[in-house]
Amino acid sequence: MKKLLVIVFLGLLWNNVGIAAEREPGTDKKCLHVFEREKVFERKFLPKVNKDQGVFVTYVGCNKYYDDWSWDYSFDQDIDAAHEKAYNGCLREMDENNLTGCHLFSIDDVIVWGKDTTLVAENVEELNKNCIRKGTTEFNKKVKQLVKKNFVTVMYFGCKSMDSWYWHQSTEEDLDTSREVAYKKCLKGASKHKIETCHLFSINDTIVYGKDAAFVAKVEKEIKERSTTKVVKKKKVAKKQTKPEDAKPLNKGCIKLGTNEFNKKVKKVAKSRDAKRSALVFYFGCENSNAWNWQWKIGDDLDEAKETAYKACVASPRVKNCHLFSIGDKIVYGDAALRAKIEEKLIKKLAKRKKSGAINYVQQFLFSGHEIFSKMSPTTFKKLTFNEEKNIGNVVKRTTRNSDWSKKKTFRSFSFTAEFEDNYTAKIFVEYEKGNKNFDKAEKEALFFSHMLGQMPYFLREHNDEIYVHNDNSYDDGLGLWWAQHNKRSFHINAPRKGLKPSGRQRCREVKLYSGCAVVMVHELAHVIQDLTGIISPSKWSKARKSDKKKYVSEYAKTNSREDFAESLTAWVALRYKSEKISESDLKKFDEYIPNRLKMFDEMNFNMNPLEN
Ligand SMILES: [Zn+2]
Repeated sequence: MKKLLVIVFLGLLWNNVGIAAEREPGTDKKCLHVFEREKVFERKFLPKVNKDQGVFVTYVGCNKYYDDWSWDYSFDQDIDAAHEKAYNGCLREMDENNLTGCHLFSIDDVIVWGKDTTLVAENVEELNKNCIRKGTTEFNKKVKQLVKKNFVTVMYFGCKSMDSWYWHQSTEEDLDTSREVAYKKCLKGASKHKIETCHLFSINDTIVYGKDAAFVAKVEKEIKERSTTKVVKKKKVAKKQTKPEDAKPLNKGCIKLGTNEFNKKVKKVAKSRDAKRSALVFYFGCENSNAWNWQWKIGDDLDEAKETAYKACVASPRVKNCHLFSIGDKIVYGDAALRAKIEEKLIKKLAKRKKSGAINYVQQFLFSGHEIFSKMSPTTFKKLTFNEEKNIGNVVKRTTRNSDWSKKKTFRSFSFTAEFEDNYTAKIFVEYEKGNKNFDKAEKEALFFSHMLGQMPYFLREHNDEIYVHNDNSYDDGLGLWWAQHNKRSFHINAPRKGLKPSGRQRCREVKLYSGCAVVMVHELAHVIQDLTGIISPSKWSKARKSDKKKYVSEYAKTNSREDFAESLTAWVALRYKSEKISESDLKKFDEYIPNRLKMFDEMNFNMNPLEN
């Protein structure tokens, strides 16, 4: 079992405009390969094609590691509407799944990915000649004049004949908003003239209607590049604030927001045992109700906790004015006297604890906030195969940090087999919600944890046959609950999903939480090998432990010998194979605190594949 408090990051919606484009077929072969391998076109898209009823359009994307992907599609009588809906749906997926972009994949039964863009244009229903003439006149007379520097003017045009037409233009700071507004308003007005379709007619001073998709894409790209440069310039100005003292004060709305977040999220943490005897600091930065960021940290040292939390808070791309908002369970923002009083008291308390010898460990929470693993770390994971749906009776039900081991449940799952390069295989059972099966989501999670498992050293994987991925976490500290039961060749993951909803996104997938989850995976696998393989001699272990004289790698290692083993072995893996991720002072401390345990692990000659030092 493992409990951990970690820094929780609040993801800001950060719209990356330069990397997604409507109507532009994708070109990335690796991403296409992912979709071919998963047979998404055959399984998910083709069955929905019905050319008599409308047009079926799909947009897809991959993340940068190609281990995650997503899509959206739309079926509509109007091809523009179909593009728009599918593209926007994919954009939402892009945010959720860290896709690198959203691109046109297929139209009806044709995959257009990697195809010449003119092929795409052929599918668009055309305006007749009279309509084009009318649109051009209207554009020259009324729209062209509205083009402004630093804005994007877009015109949508719907037309049946010289007497029946409607257009709408929109001038906004970015292309996507402009397109959306103009398109929607055009559709609304056109419908009054019984016109069902609006076409993208012009962008700024260029008529793009009738041009092939490559031309349109070029115009769009130029505009997007221009607006991206603008964003970069803005960022540079904001970066000048580097110290908390330089930050501009929070406005009223921001203080209210910070207070809300404090009451909702931080107060709960402040009540925990860990927080009460440590320094809990909460930094809050805010420009307005759409741009804000916060960060908290618990530590044995006030200055260290403050520095870590502040740095993480200002790392946000849009918010720089991060302030110390609360300490422990008190808001100190705007009250310097209160802050000084609380800090003084806290420093005394922490010093006393340090003196008492209670801090006889290297790190309070092992590798919390460190990037020991990332999705980019080498993995031996090769292939995932779906086996069957499986109900497994009598599985321990643990949903919160305080859950005991007495509650049992029927574990309803999709079962997969993961294969790895070094002839190792594991079964992965992903639990689904009763009455709400979602195969795609389960498959994505199985793939995600297989990728992570493939990053673990072989000697740790070797004796583990199964992973249970639970779906009922109700305690969100970022990492959730992980456990390995005695003498079982398996371990359990009950990590939180976004919003604590079974349908929410697995939070271990968040960039900042990935390493934390992988470190816990090492810890659980350590339990598995200690409990049942016989490769760890119990007498050798307890001798090494005793020789290190009540010094530990982490506070949690003090719990008992079993947790000490899991924590110490985890520390050893990181020390020997990821030492560049650990500070010099901590490296020295590890050597000083647990030399005998480290020596014991060094002498075991473990097979570490795929880790390299
Ligand atoms: Zn444990």
